[in-house]
Amino acid sequence: MSSRLFPLFADLRNRRVLVVGGGVVALRKIAALKSAGARVIVGAPELVVELRQLLKKNEIEYVHGKFQEHWLNDVWLVVAATDDVEVNRQIASAAEVRRLFVNVVDDAELSSYQVPSVIERGPLQIAISSAGAAPMLARHIREKLETQFDESYGLLTSLLAQHRERIRQQLPVLTLRRRWFEKLLQGPVLSLLRQEQPVKAEHALLTTLSQLDAQVKQGSVALVGAGPGDAGLLTLRALRLLNEADVILHDRLVSKEVLALARRDAEFVEVAKESGNHYTTQDGIHELLLEHAKAGKRVVRLKGGDPFIFGRGGEECEILRANDIPFEVVPGITAALACAAYAGIPLTHREHAQSLRFVTAHCAKSEDTLDWQQLAAEKQTLAIYMGVASLERLQNKLIEYGRNPDTPIALIENGSRPEQRVVTGTLENLSQRACEHQIKSPALLIIGEVAAFANSLHWFGAAPLGETNISARHSLLAAA
Ligand code: SAH
Repeated sequence: MSSRLFPLFADLRNRRVLVVGGGVVALRKIAALKSAGARVIVGAPELVVELRQLLKKNEIEYVHGKFQEHWLNDVWLVVAATDDVEVNRQIASAAEVRRLFVNVVDDAELSSYQVPSVIERGPLQIAISSAGAAPMLARHIREKLETQFDESYGLLTSLLAQHRERIRQQLPVLTLRRRWFEKLLQGPVLSLLRQEQPVKAEHALLTTLSQLDAQVKQGSVALVGAGPGDAGLLTLRALRLLNEADVILHDRLVSKEVLALARRDAEFVEVAKESGNHYTTQDGIHELLLEHAKAGKRVVRLKGGDPFIFGRGGEECEILRANDIPFEVVPGITAALACAAYAGIPLTHREHAQSLRFVTAHCAKSEDTLDWQQLAAEKQTLAIYMGVASLERLQNKLIEYGRNPDTPIALIENGSRPEQRVVTGTLENLSQRACEHQIKSPALLIIGEVAAFANSLHWFGAAPLGETNISARHSLLAAA
């Protein structure tokens, strides 16, 4: 069973809420309930002085005595704030029977709802809960948010509420409204509010509304590199675009962690699935890009690694340009760079490799067009993408064209992800090593002297699966 709580903001205005307990804990809860407009009924044998004052001012109702079940009649919500565990338990079970939500102060076990810690900025409220799992972390996050969102956000919320109708009238389409709003945030409004200039701030808001430029209404596409999997490797620009997107067309390679950072209510479409719908094909993807951009949406075309490295980003840009759709390209960390880094393999090295080649072993007729002579040259590193299916041929060709069979190799499967595996070996036993460990896509192959560094410089995840028998053979040879 999931231990998640369902977040909820309740409208308690003029609704009866029972608070059992007449001490300072109850007083705190009552103050919060009152500020949400609830009608509070307090039940207790006696009241602290502050509560007696509230009673005198008719701000609360009071039932005198020990808890009675009939107190639960006609209330919406219950707070148990007595210092008697037994009584709290009794309240909790009586409420449960009547299907009333009850919060027993400081007792998550007995409570059927919890009160989050809250940051208040005018009408804006940010609530945080760890479901009781880590209150210290929740507090830490709250402190961070406190500093990040100052009072100006509350003022902005009120200002937006004030002009809500007008904004809706002028921008009836949600996506356009959203875009206008992001522009607004980039403008001076927040800082004017911070400087206690409410009139100027309001003026600035109204100006942006009356100057809605065509740009706001035009769709666009950003080709964004999502990197290899670890969300920490996203660029700041990628993150910003993911948060502004109306539609996100993403590859299967893009990790869940990265997708989790995108705007929740964006439309997510997984394209280039291995099998299935029309959008499997590149033409289908082009159609989708055009369709959404022409509808005025901001599209993020999110690709694993870098969009311009074996990602068909070039073709997509050509189509966009031909259709006059504005686009931008945000580079991402390509698999070769990420896999090398996360496997402890320096791709170049003063002694071992002066150049680096990105090669795909999967291109249309690639094996016929690859320049094997060049690929087999010494002192260079090969980073081979999409090669899992053709390792044996690769190995034979390179050896045939003169690359030393002892050249180190490393296969990196799921680079930078928690399930990363690294298998090291030599060119001679490359396909055998892959087979032994059942290496699957996505995996990147590094060939070159530098690949051996994985055995000594690894730092991420499990140590590489090296060749114990081979090193044993080498030491035997050395001994002989
Ligand atoms: N545009 C991507 C490459 C797309 S081609 C980039 O720049 O990385 C897909 C190939 O990339 C896979 O077959 C695999 O060889 C490689 N690849 C992508 N992500 C990978 C990862 N996390 N670990 C290992 N290889 C990966």
